[in-house]
Amino acid sequence: MFDNLTDKFERAFKVLKGQGQITEINVAETLKEVRRALLDADVNFKTAKDFTVRVKDKAMGENVLTAISPSQLMIKICHEELVELMGGNESEIQIQGTPGVILMSGLQGSGKTTFSGKLANYLQTKKNKKPLLVACDVYRPAAIDQLHVLGEQLGIEVYSNKEEKDPVKIATDAVIYARSKGFNVVIVDTAGRLAVDEAMMDEIARVKKAINPTETLFVVDSMTGQDAVNTAKAFNDRINFDGVVLTKLDGDTRGGAALSIKSIVDKPIKFVGTGEKMDALDVFYPKRMADRILG
Ligand code: GDP
Repeated sequence: MFDNLTDKFERAFKVLKGQGQITEINVAETLKEVRRALLDADVNFKTAKDFTVRVKDKAMGENVLTAISPSQLMIKICHEELVELMGGNESEIQIQGTPGVILMSGLQGSGKTTFSGKLANYLQTKKNKKPLLVACDVYRPAAIDQLHVLGEQLGIEVYSNKEEKDPVKIATDAVIYARSKGFNVVIVDTAGRLAVDEAMMDEIARVKKAINPTETLFVVDSMTGQDAVNTAKAFNDRINFDGVVLTKLDGDTRGGAALSIKSIVDKPIKFVGTGEKMDALDVFYPKRMADRILG
């Protein structure tokens, strides 16, 4: 993950090796490389530009105050700014209410159903919760079956109703069912489409209004780079989600989505998916991710 970005950052910092002090010239040269590294990783253009401006201002300001070498200083500042770029501190999932309701959104194939299973498993095994999974994709019976397979595998009940064609009704019935059966978390998996379209947005917005979730998560495939960021913006403008789940970070992803999403939609990344298995789920820690990027 992010191997290319790590290599390119390393190369950028080499510009400062052997330099006695930070100067306008060597900082500019380093940051030109840093900016190129970010753009090659598919980071949003403005995000990359703003990042280098902040690093430059900090480097010129801190220069006189420090005894560490120019390259160490630059690594330290880039680390701090990468952490900020990805949201600063980790952001916990909010589950209040009886039951607490979590709504999934995202395009088809992003990993929504897989993540719904992973999250239910995480809440059951790590947070001592009793989750109910809800299948709300009324267009693809296979999606409902997929959730049932995961539920069976995890020993977690799945609520569905193949006769009912209104996802709002399924979701509201599921919340009532959960309350009556003592489930304390409801995870609602919704239908996605291959691309952003009005009918999908309208449907998710209606489900959201009806069940009033404490947490609406937007699930996105990290391999899709800037597209991931554009899709995030479209969903956020319409349904105002609370957090992002970046999936497929185990693949050959360049890092653009992880680094750009927070600055574009101002919502934190809460979880990352790192594989197809049900335990391949991590809480997103900006500091650890910055450690990884800088090698
Ligand atoms: P949905 O259409 O959004 O519900 O997407 P699915 O949950 O069906 O996932 C689409 C494909 O991506 C499936 O083959 C999943 O196994 C795979 N997938 C989901 N999350 C991850 C992940 O974190 N890593 C990898 N490698 N594959 C994933």
